[in-house]
Amino acid sequence: MNKSLVFLALMAFCETLSDAQSIPGTLLLTNYTVSPDEPVVGRVTVHNNENQTFSVEGPNATLFRMIGDEIHLSKKGRKYFRDSERCEVIISARNKGIPRGTFTIVKNDFHTNPVVAHRGCWKNTGFPQNSLAALEAAIALGVYGSEFDIHMTSDSVLVVNHDPDFNGMSIAQNPYEVLSNQPLANGEPLPTFEAFLKTGISQQSTRLIAELKPSPLGEAHSLKMAEKVIGTVRRMQAQAWMVYISFDYNILKKILSLDPYAKTQYLNGNVSHEQLRADGIDGADYHYSLYLKDEQWINKAHNLKLHVNAWTVNDPVLMEYFLTKRIDQITTDEPESLLDLFKTKDTTR
Ligand code: MG
Repeated sequence: MNKSLVFLALMAFCETLSDAQSIPGTLLLTNYTVSPDEPVVGRVTVHNNENQTFSVEGPNATLFRMIGDEIHLSKKGRKYFRDSERCEVIISARNKGIPRGTFTIVKNDFHTNPVVAHRGCWKNTGFPQNSLAALEAAIALGVYGSEFDIHMTSDSVLVVNHDPDFNGMSIAQNPYEVLSNQPLANGEPLPTFEAFLKTGISQQSTRLIAELKPSPLGEAHSLKMAEKVIGTVRRMQAQAWMVYISFDYNILKKILSLDPYAKTQYLNGNVSHEQLRADGIDGADYHYSLYLKDEQWINKAHNLKLHVNAWTVNDPVLMEYFLTKRIDQITTDEPESLLDLFKTKDTTR
């Protein structure tokens, strides 16, 4: 192995280690968005170690105050968020041995329309699915969320691609340096999750809907990927933007074991309302046909305070049906049409 390969491997190893180790025993917030009219931001907790006392520190300390374990906006903070979009807050636990946490608190200007662009805006733009260009187009369109798929390379780099293979190469069994040699059709290299986060957090109106794909190498690799995803989001302070979805229930459970307040939705359609609720999953993101078979499914979910999304709805008749049902979101390859339909049919959200 030549020197540069050794260096790259070492860098990837160190990054994996730092992302994985940043999780247990560190501070968590129950919420990362704020409205200037609502002084309570959320609670501060320590993973697996409750009942601590906390304080706010750093240059923005005067924008917040702690009341017990609740973090509130001060009067100055409420004024700040009328004009400003975000700020960083540093929180310390008084007990020794718990590292301080640095978090980005974001004014809640996220779109409330029900449109999730499936793999970004690609069909009507000509951009490749799951490209940064397709993400940027979804943000420019003004949808609630842009969905994308995550896999992990053999050297533990998180990348965005639908299939487990990229140009005939197994993502799980090849290093990023090899995979990134072949660009997407628009010239982009195979995008990394980190690049998606950088683009995502450069704005604050469209959420990032991250699908974690089960690894072809098995459960252990899938769970390691989930750990790496949560570690990367924490390191980049991107929590406010994130919704996590997966067909693998254990991946969602792993995410919740690392961050009990992460927003999670299950894709596979085989878990009941009650079980989702009991396991702390925020909602169902099931194939739309399941909701057609039981027309009370969405109402029942809402009664249990579960979030409901349907995939993948491209037919305008079905789009209208689900809008009438007051579904929370619809994942579609036709985000432009759904957004137009929503704007003409429903202005109450
Ligand atoms: Mg997907």
